[in-house]
Amino acid sequence: MTASAETPQNLSFVLEGIQKVKFEDRPIPQIVDPHDVIVNVKYTGVCGSDVHYWEHGAIGDFVVRDPMVLGHESSGVVSQVGPAVTTLKVGDRVSLEPGIPCRRCEPCKSGKYNLCIRMAFAATPPYDGTLAKYYRLPEDFCYKLPEQMTLQEGALVEPLSVAVHIVKQGEVRPGYSVVVFGAGPVGLLCCAVAKAFGASKIIAVDIQQGRLEFAKKYVASSTFLPQKVPAVENAARLKEENDLGPGADVVIDASGAEASVHTGIHVLRNGGTYVQGGMGKAEITFPIMAACTKELNVKGSFRYGSGDYKLAIELAASGRVNVKDLITGQVNFEDAERAIKDVKAGKGIKTIIAGI
Ligand SMILES: [Zn+2]
Ligand SMILES: [Zn+2]
Repeated sequence: MTASAETPQNLSFVLEGIQKVKFEDRPIPQIVDPHDVIVNVKYTGVCGSDVHYWEHGAIGDFVVRDPMVLGHESSGVVSQVGPAVTTLKVGDRVSLEPGIPCRRCEPCKSGKYNLCIRMAFAATPPYDGTLAKYYRLPEDFCYKLPEQMTLQEGALVEPLSVAVHIVKQGEVRPGYSVVVFGAGPVGLLCCAVAKAFGASKIIAVDIQQGRLEFAKKYVASSTFLPQKVPAVENAARLKEENDLGPGADVVIDASGAEASVHTGIHVLRNGGTYVQGGMGKAEITFPIMAACTKELNVKGSFRYGSGDYKLAIELAASGRVNVKDLITGQVNFEDAERAIKDVKAGKGIKTIIAGI
């Protein structure tokens, strides 16, 4: 960053192209709708999607064509409120829900606004993200943080809401056994939410021993390291080692890896529920016969919807889900690119970027 004669107004971390970033002073967002608020962003978690856009310039059909501000896992302090805002005031500490649905399409009207066909989601092209000094959102997408939660923890509410949505999709109930593939931030949070929902066995699966050790310390009741053998063999050993009898009640994939999908389907009991939360290859082979004959419920999960942020904050504030332990690194705003590189290198669990 070069020192400028004038103090920047709204310094933003912009992705220009593949592995090309810059800091740009952009105009401070203005109140457009009377329900808008402007938030001074304080902390932003680095997500796998930020890393993916930085590395490849695209995720599936979402291609970065124009320079785009990265970041979507943020907390901050309200700096301005629109004339119709009643739920927030200047100075309130909030967690940001960074996608604004149209509120008019059929999914929106049926209460599934995460499936909105016109969603404007932060750091998903062409929409700018939250790694800026200021960010605008409607008041109902800013969630006031309870006093006992720090702004750092507030930045983890976004991935926690992703996990809440996944576990809700899995219809996890008290006493259930839940197997979670992938022990990255979202997988770990799924383990924690499943526990909060009353699951009695939570088995974390990953190919990195270090991550499994973390998962065990964090919340998993046991862990499983798959071998390079056919999926049915891994599934059989997983069931046996964890006394799952005919199989697990719920399987969550938070890895996106083809091998996990296969093992997951084979680990489930008849009538069990499989939730795809991880994003990997767009197309894979799939054990469809097992899904058919076991009458599995196979579901997707995308971002978060009604009530997910609210529940995430309640879980974090009450201590039922510990988000603090997942924060393993913090960098200053000017080192944002280093944070992205650290995440790409697999350093730690969750790195957050301090605001300016
Ligand atoms: Zn994310
Ligand atoms: Zn909509």
